[in-house]
Amino acid sequence: MKVLVVNCGSSSLKYQLLDMNDESVMAIGLVERIGIEGSRVKHETMGKGKTVIEKEMASHKEAIQMVLETLIDSNIGAISSLKEIDAVGHRVVHGGEKFAGSVIITEEVIKAMEDCTDLAPLHNPPNIIGIRACQELMPDLPMVGVFDTAFHQTMPKYSYIYPLPYELYEELGIRRYGFHGTSHKYVSQRAAELLGKDIKDLKIITCHLGNGASVTAIKNGISLDTSMGLTPLEGLVMGTRSGDIDPAIISFLMDKKKMTIEEVNDMLNKKSGVLGISGISSDFRDIEQEAKKGNERAQLALDKFHFIVKKYIGSYAAAMGGLDVLVFTAGLGENSPESRLKICEDMAFLGIDIDEAKNNIRGKETMISKDNMSVKAFIIPTNEELVIARDTKSLVKMLDKSL
Ligand code: ADP
Repeated sequence: MKVLVVNCGSSSLKYQLLDMNDESVMAIGLVERIGIEGSRVKHETMGKGKTVIEKEMASHKEAIQMVLETLIDSNIGAISSLKEIDAVGHRVVHGGEKFAGSVIITEEVIKAMEDCTDLAPLHNPPNIIGIRACQELMPDLPMVGVFDTAFHQTMPKYSYIYPLPYELYEELGIRRYGFHGTSHKYVSQRAAELLGKDIKDLKIITCHLGNGASVTAIKNGISLDTSMGLTPLEGLVMGTRSGDIDPAIISFLMDKKKMTIEEVNDMLNKKSGVLGISGISSDFRDIEQEAKKGNERAQLALDKFHFIVKKYIGSYAAAMGGLDVLVFTAGLGENSPESRLKICEDMAFLGIDIDEAKNNIRGKETMISKDNMSVKAFIIPTNEELVIARDTKSLVKMLDKSL
């Protein structure tokens, strides 16, 4: 079975074509600047190399049309006909409380996704546009929706409820949902596999540290708590997002600086985090480089980031009553030995101690803890596309059986 995985953002679209007989990636690509001048497709068919195609694409439908044409191109494509694609798996950011797992997409499901739009106004609309565009271009193919929030639907109520008037939860669904669920699920399962243990017997903390970053406590295979909340703004210091702050800062700023709620929102989402502290960049590579040159604010941004990840690890270990496994994943988590070392500094009291030689590696599945430590620490490159393709395959197989 061949599955096309689609991840539609507001002006970008990531895709992968996987052969699910052996879970191999046949082609991978990214469409950038959809609806903006200078749009292009960066495509790679495995074994045929990389290509960049510059072409104006005014809409997501045009982008998907272009992806499909590229996939069947006789020179750079991966398949000879679109008939070879058996199903499409879509990443959907917010599934609210309606989706605790992946689903076959129907009109009813799309309606439910639209109902969650208030909770993810930036993310869900492009996800839905991507689904509609694929439906138009491939009307006979089964499609599956895989939600970033689904894995965290197992959180107990005391974990996800905010200490606000309870009616706000009932009326507006204000609660912690959590994100990056597909990634946290994948790397935690992979860690259990690598240890040869049942995930149900493990207490795991997964640190997804990319541009957006979150930490999850996974006890007995179930998400017990996670650092992102109603939206992906809560929790860790991120590239441009503030993460946890005193909520009173918002009214203070509105009063003192006469900022509107839109301006405060924009500041918290786009001008804060390590960019806000350093004043340099949202990219950790730039900040690490400047800190090495002695830039104090760059160093301060890194110190703040490492400190907060460390605090989450400590609190989640306490929340689970112990810790067996610590996982680092995503851009920074996979690629920054310095950050992993700093985050884990002085944590031997918890059973965490990183072996510097093993840790000196980027982007490879590796155990990085010292052999004698009780907490096994890993780098595990995340693979959300594979989870989406696996879920798509299993749901479509079930659908076939029920027909
Ligand atoms: P997202 O999917 O949230 O956009 P990624 O998981 O791709 O993010 O992570 C991107 C971030 O990872 C970059 O902004 C950069 O800060 C960080 N990163 C990537 N490679 C490195 C590296 N070699 N050293 C330090 N940071 C890195």
